[in-house]
Amino acid sequence: MTAHNFQLVLDDINDAIRPLLGKEGQVASYIPALARVPAQQFGIALRTRDGQEAASGDAAVPFSIQSMSKVFTLTLAMKHLGEHLWERIGREPSGNPFNSLVQLEQERGKPRNPFINAGAIAVADRLVTQGNAKADILALVSSLCGEAVQIDAEVAQSEADTGFRNAALANFMKSFASLDNDVATVLDVYFAQCSIRMNCEQVARAAAYLCRDGRHPRTNAPVVSERLTRRINSLMLTCGTYDAAGEFAFRIGLPCKSGVGGGIVAVVPDQLTLCVWSPALDATGNSLLGMKALEMFAGQTGMSVF
Ligand code: GLN
Repeated sequence: MTAHNFQLVLDDINDAIRPLLGKEGQVASYIPALARVPAQQFGIALRTRDGQEAASGDAAVPFSIQSMSKVFTLTLAMKHLGEHLWERIGREPSGNPFNSLVQLEQERGKPRNPFINAGAIAVADRLVTQGNAKADILALVSSLCGEAVQIDAEVAQSEADTGFRNAALANFMKSFASLDNDVATVLDVYFAQCSIRMNCEQVARAAAYLCRDGRHPRTNAPVVSERLTRRINSLMLTCGTYDAAGEFAFRIGLPCKSGVGGGIVAVVPDQLTLCVWSPALDATGNSLLGMKALEMFAGQTGMSVF
């Protein structure tokens, strides 16, 4: 498809979604700084493997990327730790909410996968051991999207003030000696990564290596190997949207990673990356209209990994 045709598809989706804004779903309220975000917003942007871009709606409005950041931290950890990463983190879908404690106890402090909160906190711990985690994450994401991205200090503080479940998960892992570093240090990194602000256009660009065999969207240098890229995409498909991963595979059929800021990034391997954003969430913490928009995109373009 040409850039012009993609633009028509995105405009069509934007036209269909806008009348639905504000009708269903809830903005994440457990993080007070996110509860203040107006629900009636929708953006969509894509970037093709060869760098053509298209966008519609509120695609240039920045939002909190939240758990979409877990794709970038996983990328850094897989690159630096290789197979050792999997000594402390599993690779199976959890079938449980993203912040669930139950499974972590049953499985003796080993998170099911790197995308549930416990798994991402364990990844953050490994990045703290490896280097200057916050700076490394910001450097990677800024380089990928070609602009300096920032942490929203107000959101990070709001998460720190109310992150009781994340503190419980981290302390619980620490009790099994599954974290190398202090709980407070690890959570500080985790809250910072979740509080990065980006817009749909930037996210579609930053994720582009996932549709280009791991190659950097601007420099073409390998960000990660082709093999690791395939593995990241497989984890996004099976675990990226928590206990809705089966529903996403069924309705959309693409590797996706969501965040409670209302963003979802999707990958069409070898073809393009796509980011949708609308703040109102469903009960599984995934953007309700974002999911609908991705379903329309997959339906209209026929793009799917299946
Ligand atoms: N910062 C959020 C949390 O830890 C991220 C969750 C999400 O986006 N699913 O609860």
